[in-house]
Amino acid sequence: MNSSFEELGLSKSVTDAMEALGWTEPTPIQREAVPAGLEGRDMYARAQTGTGKTGAYASVLLSRTKPGSRRPSALVMAPTRELASQVTEQVYRLSKYTGHRSAAIYGGASIDAQIRMLRRGADIVVGTPGRVRDMIDRGELDPSGVSELVLDEADRMLDMGFSEELDWILDRVPADRHTMLFSATASPGVRELAAGRMRDPVSISVSEGNGIPEGLSQYYISAPRGGKREILFALLEDMGHPKAIVFCGTKSMVDLLTEKLNGTCRVGSIHGDMPQARREKVMRSFRNGSFDLLVATDVAARGLDIDDVDCVVNYDMPPDPETYVHRIGRAARAGRAGTAVSLVTPNEVYRVENAEAASGSEIIRMPRPRAERPERKMKVVKEEPIVQHPEAKAAPAGPAAEASGMTVLEIGIGRAEGFGRSSVAEFVRANAGLGDGDVGRVGLGSSSSYVEVSIARAAEAVAAISRCRRGGRRVEVREAPRKPRYKDTDRGRAERGAA
Ligand code: AMP
Repeated sequence: MNSSFEELGLSKSVTDAMEALGWTEPTPIQREAVPAGLEGRDMYARAQTGTGKTGAYASVLLSRTKPGSRRPSALVMAPTRELASQVTEQVYRLSKYTGHRSAAIYGGASIDAQIRMLRRGADIVVGTPGRVRDMIDRGELDPSGVSELVLDEADRMLDMGFSEELDWILDRVPADRHTMLFSATASPGVRELAAGRMRDPVSISVSEGNGIPEGLSQYYISAPRGGKREILFALLEDMGHPKAIVFCGTKSMVDLLTEKLNGTCRVGSIHGDMPQARREKVMRSFRNGSFDLLVATDVAARGLDIDDVDCVVNYDMPPDPETYVHRIGRAARAGRAGTAVSLVTPNEVYRVENAEAASGSEIIRMPRPRAERPERKMKVVKEEPIVQHPEAKAAPAGPAAEASGMTVLEIGIGRAEGFGRSSVAEFVRANAGLGDGDVGRVGLGSSSSYVEVSIARAAEAVAAISRCRRGGRRVEVREAPRKPRYKDTDRGRAERGAA
């Protein structure tokens, strides 16, 4: 069945894992990058998230290195912890039959747990530049055995100021290594990195399709210029206050709208006039779920790496289709479902038509929320209930987790330690080596949280998490003694009860 992957030169242990993932044929980048990578050609590839680039280089790493070595033989550098953990997850899945062990090391998470992982032995290390440098510096990561090096999203690593760390690390990895560099853009910095750090790299570029994620539904609402704010409020209410980014055309509109939204929901804002430290703080809060709504300008939102945005609202419809496509691509990432809604004044309708023509996709007109069809329920992106933590207010009982093949673990980490729902899920995935499908809903409490994990992996997860330490203490974990209650959301939305 996987003959097309085998034709690229991949071994059966890798193609079988691809089959287990449901991959039936290579993506264009895999078709180009895998044969060149297997031959050991250095590579400079222009490819974005969603093209299958991770599968391309991960399958090369797994084919070209032997599992079970004392020192890591492959090092993957990625700009953010989110990307590093996504990559680790794919490597983990693709190594199902090869026996390679992988470890993710990134900032913002317990270094002790990561050190333990490295000490246990990892063939493939995936990490952010700062943490990788730190681990090498501490003598916990030995780079002298690295024969395969990947720079993923190289442009973003440079944008984020990691150039010095990259140089430092590259100087410590053997010079005769095989290097693969992936970048969404060909900025001068990236070109310089490719020219200076690789040997005669083969250059690969794949077309990115129309850039619209598959799971994204696009709508527009015809809105009078002075009526947008009410429409936005009603829309957000109607959708159950999803995790959303609202794009405005100007900084002053960002400020004004944020002020008006304050009090109706938990909202943060970023624009180019804010100091970088403040922007980063806002982004951290948005990422960890401290608020649901981010109001932003395009400039400030460049390089945002948030994967679980349900909805993008164009409060101001951008004039050019490229910006439209770029903005809405922030929802429905990583194969999730999502919604994009644009508020369009009557004389801006041509912008919708231009965006449709440029992207080859349909933007459906929807009625104004409430005003035209009070009974209408808009497509709710995240319909599934989320486990409610017992510390939260009472809510109607819901279905038991077991019905869906999941059980619930109670884990001694929570809001007080800076965790949000997604970082709790990430903690479980990273430390227990579980995939997306094995971790379900999360109920966040201040000092402990409930997390659904698949029954088949629960014992293993308990064992792995109980070995973790935070702040010098073991992380407590056990199967939840009683079933948690459910409600439709835990994101601080109004206590509306279950839908
Ligand atoms: P990436 O561009 O590496 O972030 O991958 C995007 C998504 O495509 C991931 O969820 C992969 O699991 C998936 N994927 C990668 N290669 C294939 C393939 N050949 N067939 C189907 N899905 C794939």
